[in-house]
Amino acid sequence: MSPPGHDTGLVPLTEAQALVMSRCRRLPSRSVPIDQALGAVLAEPLVAGEAIPSFANTAMDGYAVRFADTLSAPVTLQVVGTQAAGAVPGVEVGPGQAVRIMTGAAMPAGTDAVVMVERTVAGDEGRTVTVQAAAGPGDHIRRPGEDVSPGQLVFAAGTRLEPGHLGMAAGLGCEALQVIPPARVGVLSTGDELIEGSGPLRPGQIRDSNRHSLLAQARLAGCEVVDLGIATDDEQAIAAAVTGAVASCDAVLTSGGVSVGDFDYVKVVLDRLSEGTMRWMQVAVRPAKPFAFGTVGGVPVFGLPGNPVSSMVSFECFARPGLRLMMGHPQPFRPHLRAVADENLARRPDGKVHLVRVIVDWGGDGRLHVRSSGGQESHLLRAMANANGLAVLPDGSGVVAGQDVEVMVLSGADGAC
Ligand code: AMP
Ligand code: MG
Repeated sequence: MSPPGHDTGLVPLTEAQALVMSRCRRLPSRSVPIDQALGAVLAEPLVAGEAIPSFANTAMDGYAVRFADTLSAPVTLQVVGTQAAGAVPGVEVGPGQAVRIMTGAAMPAGTDAVVMVERTVAGDEGRTVTVQAAAGPGDHIRRPGEDVSPGQLVFAAGTRLEPGHLGMAAGLGCEALQVIPPARVGVLSTGDELIEGSGPLRPGQIRDSNRHSLLAQARLAGCEVVDLGIATDDEQAIAAAVTGAVASCDAVLTSGGVSVGDFDYVKVVLDRLSEGTMRWMQVAVRPAKPFAFGTVGGVPVFGLPGNPVSSMVSFECFARPGLRLMMGHPQPFRPHLRAVADENLARRPDGKVHLVRVIVDWGGDGRLHVRSSGGQESHLLRAMANANGLAVLPDGSGVVAGQDVEVMVLSGADGAC
């Protein structure tokens, strides 16, 4: 028996998440040009086929010398050539000689150190140079293979590709990388009350906001999105939209029609199309309690609730981790960090985890701080829009100002993260 005020039959949040994660499968990998691979996950280890640097070169503008010649500095050497980056070294440098050299140029034969130009004085119209301080062996020389050597594992499979990874791949001569591609995600709104765009609202109508939030959330999660529009509360319309979507998408998000209302045709249709795999849940979380998940023709379908805040939070709790698992992310879940509550975040015990929309910020003391971003009802989208985190309040009476609170960080708005 649930205590008074608690819903019966609630599915714990972690159990609903585990169900999603157990049914989502990693997408097959494919080769993509490096400049289209940002944010994707490497499907195969990147192994160096060559060394970087591939030849000994100078890290400084200056003079390539034989270090032994400089031990009695100050000492004047004869300049026997100039070596620019990209040029093939032409001279063999003998005792008492030096070559003027530019950053990135190959070390001339016979030299074993570079003296930076700031430590030298040129003389006799550039035909000599006085080295003012002794050089050590190897000074300012970039050794071959110092960054990577042939056969070395450069990046492991599972690495999320950031700008530096792509530069490194290019530096190794890779034009394409084998990655898990972005999931193609269709987003469908359902409801007779919904209209699109700026036209006049007839009584009872509202404008579809969920689809636009969800399309953007999916894009930020690294997905390629397909706008499936609005389906009316009509079995045929919903069935046609979902059937079309699963034929061309890796996952489908619907919003609306998953609660316990009377005209929830989404249920009828998804139950039929999913051949009974659809689980209709009341999750022990607030907002985002109603949630459905199953597969249609092997394609994961996330039935998100209709209330605008609930649909966004449900995306965060269930769809995003599932989609990121499909895209090979080793860490599909958002980071949960410790923060200080700057104000009371009160709640009442009801058997659910409450996810409170908060603004997360650095407090100037090196710690994260949170405060409510506004009204917490599930139709109040403005506070969700202004939030960059969800404070996680386990069942109980909440936290008081000054206490620690766990926060799921959604974005780095205001430089928080
Ligand atoms: P439902 O789950 O279909 O019963 O919808 C719950 C609430 O969310 C109702 O107030 C709907 O009007 C609202 N709603 C459903 N879909 C959308 C949408 N796409 N955009 C904005 N509000 C919606
Ligand atoms: Mg509806």
